[in-house]
Amino acid sequence: MNTTAIALNGLRKEYGRVVAVDGIDLDIGRGEFVGLVGHNGAGKTTTIRMLTGQLAPTSGSVMVAGADVVQNPAAARAVLGTVPEHPTLYEYLSAREMLEFVAEIRGQGDVDWALGVAGLGADADRLIREYSQGMRRKTALAAALVAKPPVLVLDEALNGLDPASADRVVGVLNELRQDGATVVLSTHILDTLEKVADRIVLMENGTIVIDGGVDRLEAARDRLRSAD
Ligand code: ATP
Repeated sequence: MNTTAIALNGLRKEYGRVVAVDGIDLDIGRGEFVGLVGHNGAGKTTTIRMLTGQLAPTSGSVMVAGADVVQNPAAARAVLGTVPEHPTLYEYLSAREMLEFVAEIRGQGDVDWALGVAGLGADADRLIREYSQGMRRKTALAAALVAKPPVLVLDEALNGLDPASADRVVGVLNELRQDGATVVLSTHILDTLEKVADRIVLMENGTIVIDGGVDRLEAARDRLRSAD
């Protein structure tokens, strides 16, 4: 059995003269919970966008559960759940209807469970166009989780969530990981990672400068406290 969930090989992205991601290599095993951290502009979002097939690499490759994201995007997407930095939502559906739609496309899903995890409660039946920013973030998160995909890649997905919701979501991500899911979570909140991550990856100027267990969190904190 292939135990690698995600493999980045020589992954590079240039925007004109800006090298956003500078040829990184990273292997993430099935069932790992990886916290991706770094200063603003370090390359986290660019990496996540390439990893989830939203952005074509300049060079290098991304494999998700053995599928090449560029060559075989449908196979990669089938196992991926993701919350992009700026999610697109269906304004004239309610969160419940949108999740039902996502579950139908994915061929499976537990809509009530996902609404409960996100904490949308009574708002689940209102139109998304009336939602607050936090409710929108919760809807995007619920859409990523609804089919319980085996690989979850979340870009600052806890931003804008009230503390109780953020704690609940982190608890559920931890449970999914214990059931064998692989989780990559980019965040600026290192305290969250202390509780749930197995591994910390710190990016700086498009490269990986720390890659280790949660025992490296203090080193990551020191590095993030220093000027960029
Ligand atoms: P943050 O914590 O602020 O979200 P990040 O680590 O996610 O930062 P990225 O968004 O990946 O950083 O940006 C990495 C670099 O790529 C930055 O120098 C940024 O200015 C540049 N960049 C990102 N997107 C573009 C774009 N569309 N065009 C030009 N440069 C870009």
